[in-house]
Amino acid sequence: MKKIAVLTSGGDAPGMNAAIRGVVRSALKSGLEVFGIYEGYYGLYHDKIKPLDRYSVSDIINRGGTILGSARFPEFKNPEIRAKCADILRSHNIDALVVIGGDGSYMGAKLLTEEHGIQCIGIPGTIDNDVAGTDYTIGYQTALETAVEAVDRLRDTSSSHQRISILEIMGRHCSDLTIAAGIAGGAEYIVPSEMEFNREELIRKIERCIAKGKRHAIICITEMICDVNQLAREIESRVHKETRATVLGHVQRGGSPCAFDRILGSRMGAYAVDLLLAGKGGYCVGIQNEHLVHHDIIDAINNMQREFKKGLLELAERLE
Ligand code: ATP
Repeated sequence: MKKIAVLTSGGDAPGMNAAIRGVVRSALKSGLEVFGIYEGYYGLYHDKIKPLDRYSVSDIINRGGTILGSARFPEFKNPEIRAKCADILRSHNIDALVVIGGDGSYMGAKLLTEEHGIQCIGIPGTIDNDVAGTDYTIGYQTALETAVEAVDRLRDTSSSHQRISILEIMGRHCSDLTIAAGIAGGAEYIVPSEMEFNREELIRKIERCIAKGKRHAIICITEMICDVNQLAREIESRVHKETRATVLGHVQRGGSPCAFDRILGSRMGAYAVDLLLAGKGGYCVGIQNEHLVHHDIIDAINNMQREFKKGLLELAERLE
């Protein structure tokens, strides 16, 4: 193996640049040539491939987003499209690929390895912390800081106006961000996507808060559970207190990565290169109990279900 490539795919996350830098610099040190593929699998299909040197990744460790760009390219699920992508890699004599992204990106990487012998390694890059086989994904800690800062700001203004605030936090089917932000921000109520949402229980809780004389109530809720503006109107009409919803949205994706994500990205990038140097493909990198690990991608996705942080949720209830 002499030439490897790296791409970022799916939703961007702070710390992806540190991972790209980790891949590029460690590979160059080992005597490999490195190529950057721009805009994920879409860019691969359109041959958006350029050589990267040491200086191509200068001044990026502190930058959010991804210098390689990212894209959704559902066409990559089509075997013929993947075959063309493999041909493009071979035309550059690239025989290994590091894919930084989530579960979907992992599946594409696994198929490239199995069908075409391109050794691929997946690195978990997403703010959602929803990737199997790792305790943390790159970008999660930075997004958590952003969400906690939002809770803190809402608390200031909610207390001043004796208002109820609902904060919608990203994560889709994984509520790690919501639960952790709720605990760190001292939210009065947390609504995770992993459990059925009980509106009546929420209303009763808010009524208890009001009866206790609390000046505010902050509710952290994971995205895609309900229309939070409609929920705000419902709460306001039931408890007769001004209620506002805030959707954090893509603000959570941006910003300079925190030290944890920079270090995690750097470590995982270098580890992915080590795996490729050892001739391994079809694996994903993870961090478990502080140690870097790798798992077969299919095994990770099918058998390593992520743990729902129920204990943290119970802690929030204890601390109310
Ligand atoms: P995140 O969900 O955090 O944004 P992700 O990698 O899971 O990250 P997806 O949109 O699911 O995001 O996948 C990214 C890309 O990976 C897709 O646009 C597609 O090109 C490719 N991909 C996804 N699923 C598959 C699959 N089953 N087979 C082949 N390629 C896939």
